[in-house]
Amino acid sequence: MAAKLIDGKVVSEHILNNLKPRIEALKELGITPGLAAVLIGDNPASATYVNSKAKACQKLGLYSEVITRPANIEQGDLLKIVGELNRNERIHGILVQSPLPAPLDELMVTLSIDPAKDVDGFHPYNVGMLLLGTPTLISCTPHGIVKLLEYYQIETLGREVVVIGRSNIVGKPVAALLMQKGKGANATVTIAHSQSRDLPSITRRADIVIAAIGKPNTVTGDMIKEGAVVIDVGINRVSDPSTPKGYRLVGDVDFDACAQKASHITPVPGGVGPMTIAMLMTNTVLAAEIGGA
Ligand code: NDP
Repeated sequence: MAAKLIDGKVVSEHILNNLKPRIEALKELGITPGLAAVLIGDNPASATYVNSKAKACQKLGLYSEVITRPANIEQGDLLKIVGELNRNERIHGILVQSPLPAPLDELMVTLSIDPAKDVDGFHPYNVGMLLLGTPTLISCTPHGIVKLLEYYQIETLGREVVVIGRSNIVGKPVAALLMQKGKGANATVTIAHSQSRDLPSITRRADIVIAAIGKPNTVTGDMIKEGAVVIDVGINRVSDPSTPKGYRLVGDVDFDACAQKASHITPVPGGVGPMTIAMLMTNTVLAAEIGGA
């Protein structure tokens, strides 16, 4: 392998260690940052994500609550739960794990979260502030990607970034972050998606390719240029009878082929994934600092 591995575990540990003195300072003021996660239905991947978020809180000494409800909860009852969490002084961060089962309205639920407690950074207030270049609570996966680039001193200024995927939780906000004026940004950003024509010709221009697609092996070796940086956001379960669980996790990138040409590459798992949780913890501490100020 020619590429240098971007190790999300190392960087996330570094970020979590840097949070410890901030948590101690809050505790001296009698404030323990608190995160509430709301889990609706029985999606196993969602349950795994919520468990890892709660575990991360415990490890750091944050207060955490997990509220679980069946998939057939009424929209009004879910909004009531969020309303109570908005008023709960022990809770500084609220996340409602997506995807929500139909017919629950994800946007209505996001709108009901107090923007000051919106540690996922999904509320239109926080999305808007990000676009304006004055963010406070930044959505976790995009922020984690920027932190990975920063840690490995990967220059973004003036460089071509191609983001594949235009979701509200990854593609759009990571593009918005990297196009801002300022350190760790200032990139020339292109967003590609399923309707883009001739994707390989777009990605081959990129100094940095960010794949947030949700389909294994979509970015192949011939789609990147020599020396490109490849950030793989995808988390896909592919069947593998040789593993105890019967499946393994892979990203959106053909790792072996791209690693031959890239200068830097993230693995899956162990790349972007741990960063998402580290940035969620960061947002929870930040929300507590702002709330306690
Ligand atoms: P979405 O399904 O919301 O978005 C996928 C995007 O990829 C869409 O914009 C879609 O285009 C585009 N797309 C699909 N197929 C192609 C294709 N063949 N060529 C080009 N573009 C394509 O997914 P998310 O953004 O929510 O998630 C993406 C991946 O990242 C998933 O695997 C998810 O599990 C993972 N993820 C990982 C996180 C982490 O912490 N590591 C956090 C969040 C997500 P169109 O808009 O036209 O449909």
